[in-house]
Amino acid sequence: NKFSVLVTGGAGYIGSHAVLALQDAGWPVVVVDNLVTGFRSAVSEGVPFHEVDVGDGKAVRSILREHGIGAIMHFAGSVVVPESVENPLKYYDNNTARSRVLIEAAIKEGVRHFVFSSTAAVYGEPDTARVSEDSPTRPINPYGMSKLMTEAMLRDVTNAHDLNHCILRYFNVAGADPQGRTGQSTQGATHLIKVAVEAALGKRSHVAIFGGDFETRDGTGVRDYIHVSDLVAAHVLALEALVEKPDASMTLNCGYGRGYSVREVLDAVDRVSGGEVERRQEPRRAGDPGELISENARLLATVLWQPRHQNIDEIVGHALAWERQSALEPAG
Ligand code: UDP
Repeated sequence: NKFSVLVTGGAGYIGSHAVLALQDAGWPVVVVDNLVTGFRSAVSEGVPFHEVDVGDGKAVRSILREHGIGAIMHFAGSVVVPESVENPLKYYDNNTARSRVLIEAAIKEGVRHFVFSSTAAVYGEPDTARVSEDSPTRPINPYGMSKLMTEAMLRDVTNAHDLNHCILRYFNVAGADPQGRTGQSTQGATHLIKVAVEAALGKRSHVAIFGGDFETRDGTGVRDYIHVSDLVAAHVLALEALVEKPDASMTLNCGYGRGYSVREVLDAVDRVSGGEVERRQEPRRAGDPGELISENARLLATVLWQPRHQNIDEIVGHALAWERQSALEPAG
């Protein structure tokens, strides 16, 4: 009784891990990806693949029909906070406008379940140590706002149509498949752990530490780093919850409820790699909050999620292993 699940952005970092998790759980999977940042080679063999943009409603509708898709996991989008400050319209296009097209295609083709990749950036600069799903949403960058607008669309559409949804608000996703089947291959990466493991392998000269004057324990930014395999496990559980309770929709934070500073992450990279990454203190980046940590009680209780890879050395270790085994080309 398992229907096919469409994974948008399935050739990307998190999407490619989701494809594996769905397959491991016995769900047939179909991938669409425009390959702007994803890699065809990241999609497991045997998975139907369509090089299509989610903003192409006609093409998406025919894929939904062709494969009898019953649920969509929507990962396709743009994810770099500073880029969103420079180029907000790109974010409102890729993350908001194209999601609207995808949601419309889902409604028209009778898809019943929608799992959406959202972000802790919807919370902006929180005034509590940990943010819960009920904390106020006031994004401080266009990335967060572009995702929040899609959340609002999904809620309204769910009220009006025969669709339920799970919005997953990711904290900082890192690491790679423990079995080494996929990992983060993003070119020109900007996310801390990816950048740091590239530096550890000599693909970059140093790591910039953006901001040393935040109100945090060592002045550098604190984030709740979540292992990508634990994150995608939450997606499969969320899908199963949506199928079980067609009247229920939910919004769930995805994090461990603890934070590491930039310096603590770099120390972990040094421990795991046995080297010493060069650090350079630089000014704060536009749009960066000082600290962002998840309250995750709702995720634990609602879908019975069991985190397995919280250890920062394990997260960094898997990221490093993937970086080592993936091509020796220099980073972008
Ligand atoms: N950061 C850093 N150097 C880098 C990349 C990131 O100091 O090269 C810091 C950034 O300022 C933030 C944290 O690391 O405090 C996580 O940033 P990242 O870009 O990984 O994710 P974000 O939280 O912006 O989504």
